[in-house]
Amino acid sequence: MAEITFENVSKTYPGGKAAALTDFNLRIEDGEFIVLVGPSGCGKTTALRMIAGLEDISGGTLRINDKVANDLAPRDRDIAMVFQSYALYPHLTVAENIAFGLKVRGAKPEVIEKKVRETAELLELTEFLERKPARLSGGQRQRVAMGRALVRSPNAFLMDEPLSNLDARLRGQMRAEIARLQRLSAVTTVYVTHDQVEAMTMGHRVAVMNRGTLQQLDTPRHLYDKPANMFVASFIGSPPINFMEGELTAHEGGPALACGPLMLPLGEAGRRLSSRRPGKVILGMRPEHMKIAPEAGSGTFGARAAFVEDLGATLLLHMDEHGIAIGHANMVEDDRDLMTTVPKLKALVDSSHRIQRDDRVHL
Ligand code: ATP
Repeated sequence: MAEITFENVSKTYPGGKAAALTDFNLRIEDGEFIVLVGPSGCGKTTALRMIAGLEDISGGTLRINDKVANDLAPRDRDIAMVFQSYALYPHLTVAENIAFGLKVRGAKPEVIEKKVRETAELLELTEFLERKPARLSGGQRQRVAMGRALVRSPNAFLMDEPLSNLDARLRGQMRAEIARLQRLSAVTTVYVTHDQVEAMTMGHRVAVMNRGTLQQLDTPRHLYDKPANMFVASFIGSPPINFMEGELTAHEGGPALACGPLMLPLGEAGRRLSSRRPGKVILGMRPEHMKIAPEAGSGTFGARAAFVEDLGATLLLHMDEHGIAIGHANMVEDDRDLMTTVPKLKALVDSSHRIQRDDRVHL
């Protein structure tokens, strides 16, 4: 198995306008499931292909098990890659597809037979072993592709958006399945996705990337609770976090945050914050942390439900006429785009509140 380390790795494609990776540092522990997540073009696939040996490294060092691997040929890395398109051999049966890698390596027939049987059992493919890929569903094909990778007992698995071709229900199932298989096999796994739900539910740790740089490497829980910056705060969490412009101030003898009509008394955290940096701040407030208040009062603000999405258990309210400035100070351009396309404050509230469009509420 493998430990994989990026040390100040950079990548510039010939003719590429901006660097695809800049000073990229990441240490992937042996046996770890790590997810690389970020918007389109942030460099996820480039990083993954470097591990596989499919992409030249412009600068810095890539190590696999403490050995410099920058120029190691792909076949000498013993790393298995599962792609978006499953790349199954259409003329071979499921059993033959799974066995293929072992066969070309000259494994004994009885070893191949045993390994294929075990892998098929693990992936619940036993009843399909004699079928050709054309007669399988998307999810079954996906499992065969995983089986081909698993059967080789590689140093590491690399997966590039392996679930993006599946429908939502199957994606949910396979998400849990891949995470389960990884924990069983304990093979170091690097998983690329732009889907933050996959990132949050599958990985031990998640590397959030933007524009070729690592923004934060952390557990899913920490990314959600303690995002390192506004990009991470807005990328992780669905519906996305609200940013409000505010000012640190004093209210009834204690520190408080004033965001337009909203006056939030702050506890200890506020004391620490105001001693460090008085003045203007951006408040990040997740939609699921807002609640309907029975009446106006301290720590509430009024707004109009401009649009209501009924999600079953919850209502997603898009609110305007709240008098709060939407925050975007210190944001990179991408984030500003994000703000202008989502100009309303969002609140996710229990659907027992029968709120309709144009209703005025206190939050
Ligand atoms: P996506 O989620 O869309 O697959 P990604 O995060 O995987 O994106 P990469 O494919 O790693 O991003 O691309 C990073 C940057 O490098 C992008 O700006 C992309 O346009 C550029 N790039 C990727 N491959 C090449 C190439 N062969 N030649 C030139 N530029 C490239």
